[in-house]
Amino acid sequence: MAWDFSTEPEFQEKLDWAREFCRTEVSRLDLVWPHDLYKPVTDQQRAIVDPLKQAVRDEGLWACHLRPELGGQGYGQVRLALLNEILGQYRWAPRIFGTAAPDTGNAEILAHYGTEEQKRRYLQPLLAGDIVSCFSMTEPQGGSDPGEFTTRAVRDGDDWVITGTKYYSSNARWAEFLIVMAVTDPDAPLKRRMSMFLVPRGTPGIDIEFDSALWGEDEGTHALIEYRDVRVPADAMLGAEGDAFGVSQTRLGGGRVHHAMRAVGQAQKALDMMAERALSRHTQGELLARKQAVQMMLADSYAQVQQFRLLVMYTAWQIDAFGDYQRVRKDISTIKFLTGQVLHDVARRAVHLHGALGVSAEMPLMGILHSGEILALTDGPAEVHQFVAARELLRDHQPAEGPWPSAYLPPRREQARRELGLDPVSGR
Ligand SMILES: Cc1cc2nc3c(=O)[nH]c(=O)nc-3n(C[C@H](O)[C@H](O)[C@H](O)COP(=O)(O)OP(=O)(O)OC[C@H]3O[C@@H](n4cnc5c(N)ncnc54)[C@H](O)[C@@H]3O)c2cc1C
Repeated sequence: MAWDFSTEPEFQEKLDWAREFCRTEVSRLDLVWPHDLYKPVTDQQRAIVDPLKQAVRDEGLWACHLRPELGGQGYGQVRLALLNEILGQYRWAPRIFGTAAPDTGNAEILAHYGTEEQKRRYLQPLLAGDIVSCFSMTEPQGGSDPGEFTTRAVRDGDDWVITGTKYYSSNARWAEFLIVMAVTDPDAPLKRRMSMFLVPRGTPGIDIEFDSALWGEDEGTHALIEYRDVRVPADAMLGAEGDAFGVSQTRLGGGRVHHAMRAVGQAQKALDMMAERALSRHTQGELLARKQAVQMMLADSYAQVQQFRLLVMYTAWQIDAFGDYQRVRKDISTIKFLTGQVLHDVARRAVHLHGALGVSAEMPLMGILHSGEILALTDGPAEVHQFVAARELLRDHQPAEGPWPSAYLPPRREQARRELGLDPVSGR
């Protein structure tokens, strides 16, 4: 009987350490450099950031999403979920703990599909947090539907030549390399149509037309890129020809779960702040906490956060148990579409309860609300994941047999009587 919700004391100590470390050390970086998350660190930042990373390494908490042979800790997804709940509450924490997207997913692709030379050149510095990388898949006319992608890679002697336009390629201008998805066989079925390429940033023909900024940011990092006859050698292909979907699942499967783990922490933070506010703000002669409308907001938020957290933990447990993202697809897609929903609902209530303070830049609540909207889009919009979850759910069911609409209904009364040895008509 192994339904156990406890954490072993040794790992709890590590979690306690991480919580205190983030509260005292990492939170300062969030205040000083809120928008520098995805750039290579400056010398000034390095002097501050490197000792923090070293402290994380010394504590055995560096790059916990990775397998031990890649420098990770081998704790598994359940422990990672517990840690990510803490890291999700601080913008800089994933970087200080070596688990920042999109580099984490790109590192997983390189580790699986890179040549020894590519790993030596890019993987090691990426894992060490010394360089940043870019995943270039979305196109202006096609995001959630890859059937609309048109960027082409054409074989020319020993090389591939890439031509096309990519949109929202995050951090391209800071990246040391880009992982580009391109059509290699336009006539193949969709799942075999595209291949993945590793393209060094300095390759001629990569033109960043502009960088989209997210709402509220002064400086954008999400690039619109024109690839103009970008020539790469044959070994730039990651995985086999036509395998881009399989390769991208290496990063997306884990990435979606890790986002959800961090979102649990963000939702919990909004809930905690809501409770603190309710217990400290007086209006019309009593605490907000005494108002039933406020109590309902708190109770609804608590229920949503707890349900979400349990499904995230259960999904993490299944990944540990089965080691197969595909097998856990239904629950990965479910936590993916819940992420935006839960963050939206809880953060919105928290903002509202704080009044004007809630929408101010002094509070993190608008940031949490904002990140909920972003996470509802990235790695596939919520609707697409609802459709995947429904498809997987239906796969687990059979059409009801005979005239009866559900396997839950008992057999005909007459049949049940017969099976019990009774008279089928009188029931005696
Ligand atoms: C902050 C951020 C960072 C990103 N970073 C990267 C990156 O590094 N690399 C990269 O390649 N991409 C990146 N993206 C792009 C991201 O992957 C896309 O935004 C996402 O795949 C959705 O594509 P789209 O924006 O074109 O939306 P669309 O595909 O146009 O979808 C828009 C809306 O249409 C509706 N819709 C779409 N499909 C369906 C459907 N089947 N059924 C019902 N409704 C549907 C939904 O409401 C959906 O939200 C990033 C996006 C953001 C916001």
